[in-house]
Parts: sequence; structure tokens; C-alpha cells
Amino acid sequence: MVKELMAYQETDAKLRAIELELQSSEVRKKAASAKKFLDGVNDAVVNLEKRAKELVAVYENLGAAHAEFMEVFREISAAAENADDVNAAGYLQKKADELTLRLSNLETQAASLSEEINSVLASFSQLKKKTQAAKEQYSEFGQKYKELKQSKEGERLAIEKELAELEKAVDPALMAQYKAKRKDKMFPVLYKVNGNLCGKCLVELSMSDLNRLKNDEVIECDYCRCLISKA
Ligand SMILES: [Zn+2]
Repeated sequence: MVKELMAYQETDAKLRAIELELQSSEVRKKAASAKKFLDGVNDAVVNLEKRAKELVAVYENLGAAHAEFMEVFREISAAAENADDVNAAGYLQKKADELTLRLSNLETQAASLSEEINSVLASFSQLKKKTQAAKEQYSEFGQKYKELKQSKEGERLAIEKELAELEKAVDPALMAQYKAKRKDKMFPVLYKVNGNLCGKCLVELSMSDLNRLKNDEVIECDYCRCLISKA
């Protein structure tokens, strides 16, 4: 049983090599990075839109406050000019000066807000460009990856046919165990025992596991979860 699983794994290694080649290919990486960007772009747009709305609201409030201050400023200035009493005129002039300062502060705030709004708009347009570029990249390299995958298809099918043949000689429970680990991206799955250590992670095996190995059983390493057979 173990010998047959080992034979299966040797052929499976060819399949694994194809998978790795596809996975590490430049075209897949480029398609995947474009996809990742496109998946995240909606969040970025939502965040920018939210920020833009907040800024516009603040800007409008500032505008309203500015108009109100201007009105009061005009009234006070006119009153100061027309005041007969020197003290009253002085007081009103002082009020007008204070208002002038507050108006100038408001204007500074509005200018910096306007700058921030412009930067949000610039981010929008940059995001739009990047999105377009990512779409093009995804389409180009997605297609190239498809072609690369297609070019390996014949080889892959031949190996899978060979594996299906080899599988017939393997105990179904053991095969299921192997396949589950393989699916979890473990490879190789089956190791030979190394003295009384796991052949993969070199952890020491228990007496009961060693006895099971002697009886030609396949065990699972408690530590790294690989399958172990006798040497
Ligand atoms: Zn181990």
C-alpha cells in the first residue's frame, strides 16, 4: 500500500511542478495584482466620496458664516461712521477690527479647505487613471495566463490520467488522507521515517507510532501533519 502511494506521489510531483510553474509565472502575478487593486478600488472611492462630502459641508458652513460676518461688519462700520459719541464710535471701531480679524481667519480656513478639496479631486482623478490601467493590465495578463494554462493542459490531463490509474492500487482511506493534505498545499505529503524521527520535521515519534510503522501502517506526524511510512 505504501509503495503504491509513493508511486502515486512521484507522478503527482509532475502535476505539482506544473501548478508551481503557473502559480509563479509573471503573467499570473501581474493579473493577480491588477485584480487585487480592482477589488480594493471601491473602498477607496467610497472613502474619497465620504471625505469630499464632509469637506463640501464644512466649506458651505464657512461660506455662510463669512456672509453673516460681512453683513454685521458693514452694519457696525456704518454705525461707527455715524456715531456722534466719540466713545461709542471707538467701541464700534474696536468691534469692527475684531470682526476683520475673524473674517481673515475664516478666509484662511476656507483657503486651506479649498486646497484639501482640490487634493481629494486630484486623488479621484488619479484613482480613475489607475483603475483604467489596472483594467487593461488585468485583461491583458488574464488572457496571457489563460493561454499559458491552456498550453499546459495536455500535459496536465495526461498526468491526471496516470494518477487515476495509480490511485486504483492505493487504499481509499489513505488516498483520501493524502488528497486532503495535498489540497491544503502540502507537498510532498508522504515522507519516510528518519530513524525514529519524522522524515519531514524531524520530531521524535512515539513508541506506538513506531510500532505502527513496523506493521506497515502509515502514520500522521502529530507536529507537521505529514504522512510517514517506514523507511
Ligand atoms: Zn513531522
